[in-house]
Amino acid sequence: MDFRLSEDEQLFVESVREFLAKELSPHWITMDEQHRIPTEIIHKLGEQGLFAIPVPEEYGGQGGNMLLTTLAVEEVAYADPAVATAVFTLLNNAWPFILYKYGNEEVKQEILPKVGSGQGFFGIASTEPHGGSDVAGTRTRAVKDGDLYRITGEKIYISGVRESMEQLSLGSWFTITRTGTPESRHRGISAFAFIGNKDGKVPEGFRYSILNTVGRHGISTGMLEFNDVEIHKKYLIGEENKGFYLAMQGFSIARIFVSAANIGAARWALEQAIEYARNRRMFDDRPITSFQGVSFPLAELAVKIESAKLLVYKAAQIADRIFIEQEPGLRPHDLNFYAAASKIASVETSKEAFETLMKTMGAYSYTKEAHVYRGLLGVLSYLVGAEGAQNIMRYIVAREIIGREYVK
Ligand SMILES: Cc1cc2nc3c(=O)[nH]c(=O)nc-3n(C[C@H](O)[C@H](O)[C@H](O)COP(=O)(O)OP(=O)(O)OC[C@H]3O[C@@H](n4cnc5c(N)ncnc54)[C@H](O)[C@@H]3O)c2cc1C
Repeated sequence: MDFRLSEDEQLFVESVREFLAKELSPHWITMDEQHRIPTEIIHKLGEQGLFAIPVPEEYGGQGGNMLLTTLAVEEVAYADPAVATAVFTLLNNAWPFILYKYGNEEVKQEILPKVGSGQGFFGIASTEPHGGSDVAGTRTRAVKDGDLYRITGEKIYISGVRESMEQLSLGSWFTITRTGTPESRHRGISAFAFIGNKDGKVPEGFRYSILNTVGRHGISTGMLEFNDVEIHKKYLIGEENKGFYLAMQGFSIARIFVSAANIGAARWALEQAIEYARNRRMFDDRPITSFQGVSFPLAELAVKIESAKLLVYKAAQIADRIFIEQEPGLRPHDLNFYAAASKIASVETSKEAFETLMKTMGAYSYTKEAHVYRGLLGVLSYLVGAEGAQNIMRYIVAREIIGREYVK
């Protein structure tokens, strides 16, 4: 076992860190205040090669892998601990990879180079108003009509809506729809690459709106409404009625990157807490770090961050063995435990990191000037559900360790 990053991986981290320190960190507070990642910053992130990292270069990707993506997303979240930019980045890596792997050639060429260069977005639109956890219960319908499908339904809490529809030249999502009977559950779901905006052109019958969220304001969260929207059959990803399985693969990969985002934000919070505590002096001019009540929670947090980080990196390496190296004998399913376990550990650690930071800072952390609340609200999005509720992660882990037939 070798826990070291290779020299190339270390160089990659250093170059990404240096770039983000200059181009992203100085703007994270303004982005959260102004509810927008400026389009120029998105373009620059694309030019730096931070999108479509695991997608081969012939499709406009970076020809990298899942571990490099994980390392990149961690750094992005460290530079913008409100995690808006990390969300944009991780979606634009996980879902383009699924399109690359299972999509139609023409559609891949239409979407992926735009995403890789920072001119486009390809996210995930699965959640519906009746409940995001029940993906197999998807109600949005796609009805076949010759070479077309007609889509009707609603998706909610979708990331990247304003960016897709108003900021970039291409806005698109991996979306899932019911093509089988309502009783068919996960066996009657098909996946599509849906383009909501191409150079300002919006499909007839499609509408979007932006929700008023409490945090991670840099990236928008919105609703997509489909009213008999026509989509050509070439946009079907994989086979009809097999979309659920592709969505699950995408979720597993995305959860690794989500976990990396939470590690990056947690690292930022720990560093802020240490810095503050070293300089806060009282009781005969002692730094508060001299009290174990302050230093021990920081020590415990450092241990949790390191443990969670190792789990996340391990998950990324397994994803590489499955999806990039295509090691015989390994299946996408083998990632389930590690991806879900990573999300449990990292999200709960990042929440604790912000709690520890706030307790260490005391009342100052409760003022808007401290900006700590921006990070806390960002990571809370993952605690309440984004990219799968924590209970669902526990369900996946339980099913993997106990056996599918024992965990219903
Ligand atoms: C900021 C933000 C951005 C998001 N971005 C996207 C996006 O880009 N694309 C997208 O498709 N979705 C997105 N989501 C939605 C996200 O995927 C859902 O929040 C998630 O799937 C949970 O669904 P829900 O919120 O409807 O909660 P529900 O499914 O209604 O669940 C509510 C509660 O019940 C629990 N629960 C439900 N079923 C079970 C069960 N079987 N066992 C135990 N507990 C259960 C859950 O753990 C949760 O605590 C986003 C969410 C947020 C907050």
